[in-house]
Amino acid sequence: MKLLLIEDDRQLTDALQPLLRDAGYAVEIADNGIDGEFLGNELAPDLIVLDLGLPGKPGLDVLRSWRAAGNRTPVLVLTARDAWHERVDGLKAGADDYLGKPFHTAELLARLEAVGRRHGGQASNELSWRGVKLDTERQQATSADGRVIDLTAIEFRLLRYLMQHPREVHSKTRLSDHVYEEEQQRDSNVMEVYINRLRQHFGKDFILTRRGQGYQLAPGETE
Ligand code: CA
Repeated sequence: MKLLLIEDDRQLTDALQPLLRDAGYAVEIADNGIDGEFLGNELAPDLIVLDLGLPGKPGLDVLRSWRAAGNRTPVLVLTARDAWHERVDGLKAGADDYLGKPFHTAELLARLEAVGRRHGGQASNELSWRGVKLDTERQQATSADGRVIDLTAIEFRLLRYLMQHPREVHSKTRLSDHVYEEEQQRDSNVMEVYINRLRQHFGKDFILTRRGQGYQLAPGETE
């Protein structure tokens, strides 16, 4: 799950980045409104955290530009404490949620999880497909035959992304876009290795190869 964090407070981004990574997000950071607006379109992130007080271009204008251009990525805005009008403006401009500064990291993570879930149409922290269950909060998977499986960070991100979009065919490039961060080694051939690891965990038929197109989860039992 790719998360774009647009925030000019370096201390805050330094503190948040490792926590967001631990929570399973591939994190990209922009420290001004102009780069942030560009990356919000260019990177096609799954979630955006947007500070409203930004150099270059104010956060509200960035959000309005995205929405006017049809960018529907879920956005959580960070507002100044007690600035209720900022929250109203943020929601009117198309934000999905807001959080006043300073905040507890646990609350940010819970809200991001909830925003992502609403957007993905999930009702709980658990994704489920063909008997495989993924608890996205505890980052733990259970195979169809009931084995609890420990996933590496990349395996978790990959499985979550596939299970959030179970009917789509994904190219290796798209998968690596959503699983890796910008500065990480991004060899899309490595994706094959991770796909095969997931097959070892969940059965070789769990993920289908669409020749020349990419990968797709096997159809659900009722389809
Ligand atoms: Ca700021």
